Amino acid sequence: MNLNTTFEKIPVTTLASGFELFIPLHRLVGRTSGPTLGLSAVVHGDEPLTNEIVRQVLLRIDPAELRGTLLAVPIVNPLAFESLTRHTPIDMLDLNRNFPGAPSGWLSEQTAHILGTKFVSQLDVHVDLHTGGVFPTVDYVYIFDRSRELSKAFGSSFLFEPSQPYPGTFAIPAREKGIPFFTAEVGGGSFLDAHYIEHGVRGVINVMKQLGMLDGDVVRPPRQTIVTEMAVIRPRFGGMLYPEVGLDQLGKEVRGGTLLGRVLSPYTFETLEEIRAPFERGYMILLRGGMMRVHPGDYGYMVANAETARPA
Ligand SMILES: [Zn+2]
Repeated sequence: MNLNTTFEKIPVTTLASGFELFIPLHRLVGRTSGPTLGLSAVVHGDEPLTNEIVRQVLLRIDPAELRGTLLAVPIVNPLAFESLTRHTPIDMLDLNRNFPGAPSGWLSEQTAHILGTKFVSQLDVHVDLHTGGVFPTVDYVYIFDRSRELSKAFGSSFLFEPSQPYPGTFAIPAREKGIPFFTAEVGGGSFLDAHYIEHGVRGVINVMKQLGMLDGDVVRPPRQTIVTEMAVIRPRFGGMLYPEVGLDQLGKEVRGGTLLGRVLSPYTFETLEEIRAPFERGYMILLRGGMMRVHPGDYGYMVANAETARPA
């Protein structure tokens, strides 16, 4: 399988093992000039589906039809990907909470600094791909400064405009540079992977059409909704989680008080916690598609308030 890209390595450092840590980068240059779009995946190591989205995007784009350049990082955090963990194993930090980083900080901070100065510095637009992780499944995109039209073009049904974005994310180098950036949250949990991979690939191609990098119409769902209030429901107890709402309910309306799932003790099988939907009317944004182990404090469920939502 041949990619039309040039493969580059952005050096980060040398590990204690002697291995060279670098950030892999594919450069796909179009036949005519245009913007440079950056696409990044697996900043969280437990979100491997985003790696496949990048691979399929690169396979689908014909450089003869491309205006501008696509710079794609298939794995932002190689060590976290290796261990399939959200955090970098060496310093236990979440790389996506440590931007803009520092050249002489923790390893994750050093990596963040390199990403800002050697990757984002080359971009006109940046899209960072995420999933719900190994267990949860998710489907929405963020709206940040300057990203409104591009976020909409990605084609997800739900857009989240946070009043208080998480600190230290990959949004920071883009904001400092003054370029549009958004995060797309697509799939995860190893359920319906083919569906979410296609959704992610279509989303990136939509963004490229919106930017004029590719010809064709942006494909969007008939209805897109902007939500501004999102409840992240973290279980207070760990154990075995038994979902009461299925994967088919993702993106659907949910009444306040609806039982979303139960956490059972894996020892005694007693119910430790019943997780219920907040808000009088909500939309299911993140859920768990099957019975699974859960930690206390995990991303258990996400529900957006439908009362404060508006059409995009
Ligand atoms: Zn993530």
